[in-house]
Amino acid sequence: MSERASESSMQPASLSGRELAHQLRARTTESAAALTAAGTPPRLAIVVATADESSAWYVRSIAKAAAAVGIVCDVVDLGAAATVEEISAALRRLGEDDAVHGIILQTPLPTGVDVADLTLSIAPAKDVDGANPASLGRLAAGLPAFPPATAEAVLALLDHHGVALAGRHAVVVGRSTVVGKPAAHLLLDRNATVTICHSRTSDLAAITRQADVLVAAVGRPGLITPEHVAPGTVVIDVGTNPTADGGLVGDVDPAVVEKAALTPVPGGVGPVTTALLLDHTVRAAADGTG
Ligand code: NAP
Repeated sequence: MSERASESSMQPASLSGRELAHQLRARTTESAAALTAAGTPPRLAIVVATADESSAWYVRSIAKAAAAVGIVCDVVDLGAAATVEEISAALRRLGEDDAVHGIILQTPLPTGVDVADLTLSIAPAKDVDGANPASLGRLAAGLPAFPPATAEAVLALLDHHGVALAGRHAVVVGRSTVVGKPAAHLLLDRNATVTICHSRTSDLAAITRQADVLVAAVGRPGLITPEHVAPGTVVIDVGTNPTADGGLVGDVDPAVVEKAALTPVPGGVGPVTTALLLDHTVRAAADGTG
């Protein structure tokens, strides 16, 4: 066995996120009950400005998950014709409302409305999905901030499954501000050696085959094939790509599980992301009462 393989304790396996999500929700339920009993019911506001049906489905699922753990969830629907000024004013008003602890700006936004500009209007202390560039900046500077829940879910899954990170080579495919960049910062913060790949990377497979930990956050079904992965690698599949029959597939060819430990889609990163959004909301509520 090579030195690299012997260092990697991971055998090929499916790394579910469901048990971790359950544990996180149990902890959040306890904290939410304590906050409510103390007179601060945790409250999450989701600002929506789209008629997109998959977005509506996602918002309903967050609202349902919030209710299940004892978080009040307000959906602030501004309609698909909302202007930048209207959305920005709603975000600022929620930022000033002491009863609101977490704010999410749902995408997509109306055509011509720039999401990056608007996220500046989300109060950093209530930015539970790490959308304000100030949150990413603080993360990069090693200062406390809420990371985007999906990026944090990557780290939470690695920890839950006992994957060591210090000194290991982590390769992140994708450099969005929502997933790839914050995940890379979080891995770096845990002393992994981090490589970030993107659409202009030459010979992607040559780089991903060097990974101890591989994070795929691209949005292309099956981009990562068995040929991209060395035996013993731990692969976190962030991709959520809808299929024609209403299902969901990741960025990683499921055949990779024959040679590597791989998170499933669905049932891997997704449920942990939702659970962490709720965890961030109760933490923001607790901080607000501090
Ligand atoms: P995004 O903003 O579209 O970014 C995609 C990234 O992939 C970009 O950095 C792009 O490179 C890179 N890329 C595109 N084609 C590539 C290729 N052939 N080889 C290497 N890199 C390539 O997407 P995102 O918002 O980060 O989301 C990524 C995926 O995660 C999507 O499937 C999304 O649905 C999913 N997601 C899941 C959750 C969850 O809760 N599970 C949450 C958020 C997102 P360039 O920068 O060069 O264009």
